[in-house]
Amino acid sequence: MNAQIHYRIIPHDPHAHLYRVSLHIQNPLSQGQRVRLPAWIPGSYMIRDFARNIVWLRAWQGNQEVAVKRIDKSTWALGSVVGPVVVDYEVYAWDLSVRAAHLDQHHAYFNGSSVFLAVQGQEHHPCTVDIDPHSGGIGKQWRVATTLREDTAARYGYGRYKADSYDELIDHPVEIADFTLASFDACGVPHEVVITGKHTADMPRLCADLKKICEYQIRMFGEPAPYDRYVFITWAVGDGYGGLEHRSSTSLICCRDDLPSIKQRDRVSEGYRTFLGLCSHEYFHNWNVKRIKPAKFLPYDLTQESYTELLWAFEGITSYYDDLVLLRTGLIDVKTYLEILGQNVTRLLRSPGRLHQSLVDSSFDAWTKFYKQDENSPNAIVSYYLKGSIVALGLDLLLRDLGQHRLSLDSVMLVLWREYAQKGRGVGESGIEDVTLALVESRIGEAAVQTVQAFFHRALRETEDFDLAHLLHRCGVKTHLRASESPSDKGGTEGKSDTSMRAVLGGNLVNDPQGARIQTLLNGSAGHKAGLSAGDVIIAVNGIRTDANLFEKHLSRYCPGDHVSLHAFRRDELFSVEVELSSAPLDTCYFSIEDEEKLKYWLFP
Ligand code: ZN
Repeated sequence: MNAQIHYRIIPHDPHAHLYRVSLHIQNPLSQGQRVRLPAWIPGSYMIRDFARNIVWLRAWQGNQEVAVKRIDKSTWALGSVVGPVVVDYEVYAWDLSVRAAHLDQHHAYFNGSSVFLAVQGQEHHPCTVDIDPHSGGIGKQWRVATTLREDTAARYGYGRYKADSYDELIDHPVEIADFTLASFDACGVPHEVVITGKHTADMPRLCADLKKICEYQIRMFGEPAPYDRYVFITWAVGDGYGGLEHRSSTSLICCRDDLPSIKQRDRVSEGYRTFLGLCSHEYFHNWNVKRIKPAKFLPYDLTQESYTELLWAFEGITSYYDDLVLLRTGLIDVKTYLEILGQNVTRLLRSPGRLHQSLVDSSFDAWTKFYKQDENSPNAIVSYYLKGSIVALGLDLLLRDLGQHRLSLDSVMLVLWREYAQKGRGVGESGIEDVTLALVESRIGEAAVQTVQAFFHRALRETEDFDLAHLLHRCGVKTHLRASESPSDKGGTEGKSDTSMRAVLGGNLVNDPQGARIQTLLNGSAGHKAGLSAGDVIIAVNGIRTDANLFEKHLSRYCPGDHVSLHAFRRDELFSVEVELSSAPLDTCYFSIEDEEKLKYWLFP
């Protein structure tokens, strides 16, 4: 073995979900060597303390055991040693997400940040990794999917892989399974789709559609693509959704029913549209966050929270483009796109927390608020993904309007790519605004600068809504608001029924063995005024037994302003309240086209 730092990982006991890892350190630091696991994984802004899954850890010099001392929850100090040392440890891996590690007799998946200890002070050294099969024969047929560079391993084979640094090592997730594999080429770059889990996906269709998305995005930022191979690592499950971006791959979890089936033919179902949107989102991160990065992430400090006010740009702008790219590549039509936008605006209007938390605060506090949501979150916080995407839309429309379509958000992204990412510069906390304002000044003129500055201030630092309807109107789209028709009404369309007499409680109800449990309750709503609380289980409306399914039907007998008596449990204590029902608020948005010509300038530039 020639690398100074070498790992060996084995799916040691799939039934107990245990990986066995050996770390060989050729030259431990003379002042004492420490090893540690990251506390968080880039792209998911929450302290996860991955080291809690290390079951045991021991160190050796030859046959001699080396003393090991705990320093903190993630760090171990090796007793003074001269010459090579080996650290052996076991990692428990049973996390059903794209953020950590998972192992059973059906597959093995891991992010390096969950299984590879960093050798403190030597993180910049190149390293090698042996990915070895289970010694008892489980997974003999498995193949290895990763964009880690092969050393002596063959493509998809067990064996030796390599990375130039710890930062690179942990940015290539690894999936080992008997997976489905398909490949396509986008702008000359080989792309692969790997799917683990039971599924019946139409792989040629999936590849053809992904190719359109990838080529559009590569061309948007300019060829060549900033990687020479890309893999979509997908885990199809019964119910799941999520993705995490990496420098030349992405890890995805999706519902198997969202994957396209051969029977679907050319149609894009809502589920498949959601999956393509997820792929488009993670792919856009190849530029926006993996390479155009906040200066605060250069380098990542994985030992503690890394605060930035810019997540609205890295997640929000990415969320704006993910669906827009589906439209611009012909995978969805204008009607569907406007429906999606209407649903997004509806979700924002139903988040009263937006009136209390600004977008920059939402970014900054992601660690303890967005990633640690509770029953009060709708009242207290706003999503930097959701509001960020709507601010990105507003900014795009504003730039197009002021510059008569000679300037757009695309122009801002290109400058960020060329002037920051390609020059290895991080984006400072005011960087996105500075780049935009400089572009506005040079391409439109000084008079427009103030308008854009005012937009940024309102959209990012204040909590009142900005005038999106006006900006959409300038691009040929008319905004409509109506009341929701039912709890399942997501908005985006005109609606079919008269909702003027619909009475509501103002909360989100879910089924509970006893009745209807209030999951969230909006402040100022009828339920809140009557003294109900999230967590309460409503069991009767005016003396009639109810549950989450029946509740809407029970309320439909009453009008806004009517009083009803509700019986509910708080914990195990029964109580009753008198509720004055309110009318359904105008929180449901949809759009219509006013001017096709203007709309085309925006949607199909
Ligand atoms: Zn994202």
